[in-house]
Amino acid sequence: MNFNELGLDEALVSAIEATGYTEPTQVQVSAIPAAIAGGDLLVSSQTGSGKTAAFTLPCLNRLLGHKPAPGAGPRMLVLTPTRELAQQVEKAVKTYGRKLRWLNTACLVGGEPFFAQAKQLSRPVDVIVATPGRLIDHLQRRKLKLNDIQMLVLDEADRMLDMGFSEDIETIVAATPANRQTLLFSATLDGVVGKLAQKLTRDPQRIEILATKASSANIEQRVMIADNLGHKNRLLESLLGSEGLQQAVVFTATKRSAEEVSLSLREKGFSAAALHGDMHQTARNRTLDKLRQGRIGVLVATDVAARGIDVAGISHVINFDPPRAAEDYVHRIGRTGRAGREGIAITLSGPREIGMIRAIERYTGKPITVHVIEGLEPSARPPAAGRRPSPGGKPGGFGGGRSRDRDARPGASKGWNSDGPRGARHTSDSERGPRRARADFR
Ligand code: AMP
Repeated sequence: MNFNELGLDEALVSAIEATGYTEPTQVQVSAIPAAIAGGDLLVSSQTGSGKTAAFTLPCLNRLLGHKPAPGAGPRMLVLTPTRELAQQVEKAVKTYGRKLRWLNTACLVGGEPFFAQAKQLSRPVDVIVATPGRLIDHLQRRKLKLNDIQMLVLDEADRMLDMGFSEDIETIVAATPANRQTLLFSATLDGVVGKLAQKLTRDPQRIEILATKASSANIEQRVMIADNLGHKNRLLESLLGSEGLQQAVVFTATKRSAEEVSLSLREKGFSAAALHGDMHQTARNRTLDKLRQGRIGVLVATDVAARGIDVAGISHVINFDPPRAAEDYVHRIGRTGRAGREGIAITLSGPREIGMIRAIERYTGKPITVHVIEGLEPSARPPAAGRRPSPGGKPGGFGGGRSRDRDARPGASKGWNSDGPRGARHTSDSERGPRRARADFR
């Protein structure tokens, strides 16, 4: 299947070809023709599956077909849970719409000056990408009307609900015309997301992409047992010195720990920086720019702040602290192995955090292999082989054998120091937190 078989305008197909994509991903094959047909869609798809193009392309296709009436308001609205994701989506809209010279976009997210955004809205805008909190601010101050919205996209709807945006979403949707087309994308379509979907969509087509496994197929998943914090730090240092490491994202459970780990890595000579919700938006943007440019080798981040980061040079994700939920794990590891590349995800787990690793294995259906680094073996015994078979009963999962990590070793030369990356290649960008009180909870 190729892009010109999906029913897209030639201007969009040539823009896609210019990005270097040769064939559509599974979610694109399923969702693009269905969205072009005009109905509402509920799409379950994971980050990294190509979902942004799956909703952006059919929406731009529709915009292309009808010139806006003079003085008309925005016709396409995308809501995202975080600022960085909104920025990333706006960038994708511009990339795929590069042949549409008349196309104007606006990204309305918190942490950026309100009045600069309001000024942007005083001119014609076709596409708005926004986090719910800031969009509501503009609606309440009458800087924006949504009467002309034809296409509404809810991106990562599950996450928006997790972040407490349910009411805001309903307020925003009530300001759009009832005859709009609604495309809802979410990792899951069950539970609260299903209820929201029922309220917001009309006779939707359901598209389920079994992306959990597919999207992480190119990511090797490992766990290493750490006896204590000191051991964890030594493991981390050794891993960041691995052969083949280009850039890494290290996840911590709290903002404070992100700062501490990043500082300690810098003291050891790594080119590390923190990213979390307590940082000013300008500082967050600057850090992400440096990451994209390859001037930062190790980003130490909390979950929400790092969500949506799309940098091809990220070869490793290291969970310094295991995630709170299996779903967060999938988002975290999705920062590596972008656009079909290979990636490695390593979770450092205390002996008592093993339950979470098992929950993740059950959720993803994929075994996570126990690795040890020579000279840094844990004194705690990992679970005995066979006592808790990994899903599918395959050996080598968390309940299975151990494997020695030959790339990483204590005292290995640092893959990353302040001089920058070794041959890292970099592409696009990322996301971020909505209203301050809700942004990045840790
Ligand atoms: P997303 O799931 O939208 O975050 O996309 C994940 C990554 O896949 C991004 O880096 C996109 O640029 C890339 N991508 C999207 N569609 C394709 C495609 N058809 N072929 C290759 N890469 C793609």
